[in-house]
Amino acid sequence: MITVAEARQFVLSSCRRLPPVQARAADALGLVLAEAVRSDGPVPPFANSSMDGYALRARDVEQVPARLRVVGEIMAGDDPAALTVGEGETARIMTGAVIPCGADAVCMVEHTRSEDGWAVIDEAVGPGTNIRRAGEDIAPGAEVFTGGVRLGPAHIGVLASIGVEQVTAYPRPRVGVVSTGDELVNGSGPLPPGKIRDSNRASLLARLAADGFIGLDLGLAPDEPGALAQTLGQAVLDCDAVLTSGGVSVGDRDFVKLVLEQLGGQHARWLQVAVRPGKPFAFSTLPPNGAPVFGLPGNPVSALVSYELFARPSLRLMAGHHNLDRPKIAAIAGAGLRRQPDGRLHLARVRASTRADGSVVVRPSGGQGSHQLTALAGANALAFLPDGYGVAEGERVEVMVLDLDELEPSGA
Ligand code: AMP
Ligand code: MG
Repeated sequence: MITVAEARQFVLSSCRRLPPVQARAADALGLVLAEAVRSDGPVPPFANSSMDGYALRARDVEQVPARLRVVGEIMAGDDPAALTVGEGETARIMTGAVIPCGADAVCMVEHTRSEDGWAVIDEAVGPGTNIRRAGEDIAPGAEVFTGGVRLGPAHIGVLASIGVEQVTAYPRPRVGVVSTGDELVNGSGPLPPGKIRDSNRASLLARLAADGFIGLDLGLAPDEPGALAQTLGQAVLDCDAVLTSGGVSVGDRDFVKLVLEQLGGQHARWLQVAVRPGKPFAFSTLPPNGAPVFGLPGNPVSALVSYELFARPSLRLMAGHHNLDRPKIAAIAGAGLRRQPDGRLHLARVRASTRADGSVVVRPSGGQGSHQLTALAGANALAFLPDGYGVAEGERVEVMVLDLDELEPSGA
């Protein structure tokens, strides 16, 4: 058996970043920039008011109250080029409107009174007050984002603010998903004797979508080397990577590893990883493009856990990410997380929640068998139980957070 870290390293070292592409900024949420982005102009593009109020000369309101003649009104979107605020004068101004010539401060409307063509200013404001200067956020010509930055919603907004509609970024990997097994059927019809419904394809396609990758449903493949070879041979032409599930164990009909070798796979390895769930795992890159194939185990929990440990970091590497792994945090076991020694790391499906003091507490989310997918559905984290007898209630345990949105207050 090899450790999770060794298997992860082996797999990552066989994967490469995908060639960058041009992407529409509006479609680029979650993509990683392959090139820096610069701004031609300043943001904000002109000095503007941060308040609704009166634009004026700070010197005129050193003594308050001060009575100023109102010479104009400037709304957001107006061009006040023809307007100048002279000594003893002021202009009504709205948030986001251009600061007129002559004015060097804005007094917020709450500290003023309007009197028939005049404004009484009740607050002294220094030069620059309530003015957002041109270029205060982005200077003209500035490098706004470096290559390697992952684009979130605010980044997409910044790109829009500087008028950048196209970026050079790493594409989302296109990932084919195949389920192997003669026992598998699709859909909702009555189950024939001995058959089960395929859940791995559905869960893996959903997992890929949630992770920002493009999943391609490649259907079911029987436990027959010829058919599997044909499916995989075609898949690596159409996809950047392929996930299979099932057929990597030591059963008489476990053909995935054999087929990967037949197809001339590089780095073809059948790994016995010291982890539970997720011990059997096959990997290879296949010609002609070196697309990685991740041979995930068949048990539904094992398939998703193995994806988390090996496929997800690799796909993130291909997508240009620097941060490949989920966050790991220290938590407290809210109930005993027991196990028996077997030379393997155990990953318990747990529900993590926050306590009033900010610490995180975890409890098992259900049955821990590798076929019991409901416990993974109810989990938002995996607890790392090193080889031994597990963790007692109240002890510290390391957890990998799967879903931060589901990290709720514990109520205890
Ligand atoms: P295998 O590794 O092919 O021996 O599969 C291990 C276990 O996982 C068996 O009980 C299979 O029936 C089950 N299994 C394999 N593939 C799937 C799948 N796509 N959906 C649900 N269960 C599966
Ligand atoms: Mg099978």
